[in-house]
Amino acid sequence: MSKEQKKTIIIVEDEPSLVFTLKDTLENEGFEVHITEDGEQAVDLVKDTDPDLMLLDLMLPGKSGYEVCKEVRGLDYNFPIIILTARDQEIDKVTGLNIGADDYITKPFGVKELLARINARLRRANTYSSKEEMADSLTLDPVEINLNESYVKRPDQDPIPLTTREVELIRYLIPRRNVPVSRDELLEKVWRYEFSTNTRTVDVHISKLRAKIEMHPDDPKYLVTLHGVGYMLKTG
Ligand code: CA
Repeated sequence: MSKEQKKTIIIVEDEPSLVFTLKDTLENEGFEVHITEDGEQAVDLVKDTDPDLMLLDLMLPGKSGYEVCKEVRGLDYNFPIIILTARDQEIDKVTGLNIGADDYITKPFGVKELLARINARLRRANTYSSKEEMADSLTLDPVEINLNESYVKRPDQDPIPLTTREVELIRYLIPRRNVPVSRDELLEKVWRYEFSTNTRTVDVHISKLRAKIEMHPDDPKYLVTLHGVGYMLKTG
């Protein structure tokens, strides 16, 4: 019998009863689970185990979840990070987004909901590695987009950094170039209906992205609006 390849999940959480439940549940689901209750040790554990996903509490001894998240992303680890947050920490969600977390779940949460989110994130990570991640750059003449290093190079300008979401958006559009994509599809596939998103969220991000990749953002040549339909990446 061939050895089944287990997905590895790191839990960074200092609440013993929650850790116990999570470990038990995830191991029953066939995951390899590593645990630390200390923010200081979390980054070392990442280096040692090269996980597929991380569950990260925010209030931790040693180092906060924010710092852990920032440090992990700074080391170029791209596995999904799901933040475990207490109720009414809306402000934390915003900060967490900016430092590279992928999703949030509010305590107390149901095991079923958590598993659904973990599996959605892992599926999505797989999809990217097999398809979208193949593209590491895109030329929208005269603008060069480097997707691996997340920046845009315009003529005679310093590189402009792209956010994780902008890179995801472009990666989603590349295999669908010259095909109309609706706002709802982008909300579902790129945002996964996270947080308090709506179609306005999509418009705002598209507009910010245009300012980076289009020479004339008000009259876009590549990332075009199709009225009543949505958007399209128009190339060639
Ligand atoms: Ca805590």
